[in-house]
Amino acid sequence: MAECDMNTENSTGRRESTLAGKLFRNLPYKIVILLGAGIFLAGLGASMWGFIAAGLYILYGLVGSLWIILFLCPYCRRYGSRSCPSGYGLISARLRKRRDFGRFAEKFKKHIPVIVPLWFIPPIAGIIIEIIHFDWLLLVLLVVFAIDAFIILPMSSKKHSCKTCPQRNECPWMKDKKEVT
Ligand code: SF4
Repeated sequence: MAECDMNTENSTGRRESTLAGKLFRNLPYKIVILLGAGIFLAGLGASMWGFIAAGLYILYGLVGSLWIILFLCPYCRRYGSRSCPSGYGLISARLRKRRDFGRFAEKFKKHIPVIVPLWFIPPIAGIIIEIIHFDWLLLVLLVVFAIDAFIILPMSSKKHSCKTCPQRNECPWMKDKKEVT
């Protein structure tokens, strides 16, 4: 998708994220969650435990997004702004009051670890299941999950979101990365 389709300029010349842009930028995270659930279903089969594990993982993904909306976005300069690439900042403004932007880095370090296990639970569970009982479908899902979670999603964030973020210099994820200045 072309960058111009994902952003537009408002009457003051400020860049805003379009609906298509928000959907596109949310896609890699949604795919991570769906693939993670697929890994549990492929590994545990269409059994009660397979559906429970997949359902709990999807629930964790949804709660993780809400957690960021509630506890990180209020500290971001894009809180309540259409320039927020994911749209979380607009949702956050409906749920919580604006907080001190100067504490963004502190809150980032505190709250991002809450969602980090989403990246590791499916591969760890999938590898254990593969060792016990090898399955080609599970292997394919593990590889695709790894490509999306560890390559596409970080690249997409860096290229489309972090690059233009007004808080990138305070962000613990970005401030040491020289290519984004
Ligand atoms: S840029 Fe990130 S932290 Fe800031 S409001 Fe949007 S989703 Fe939240």
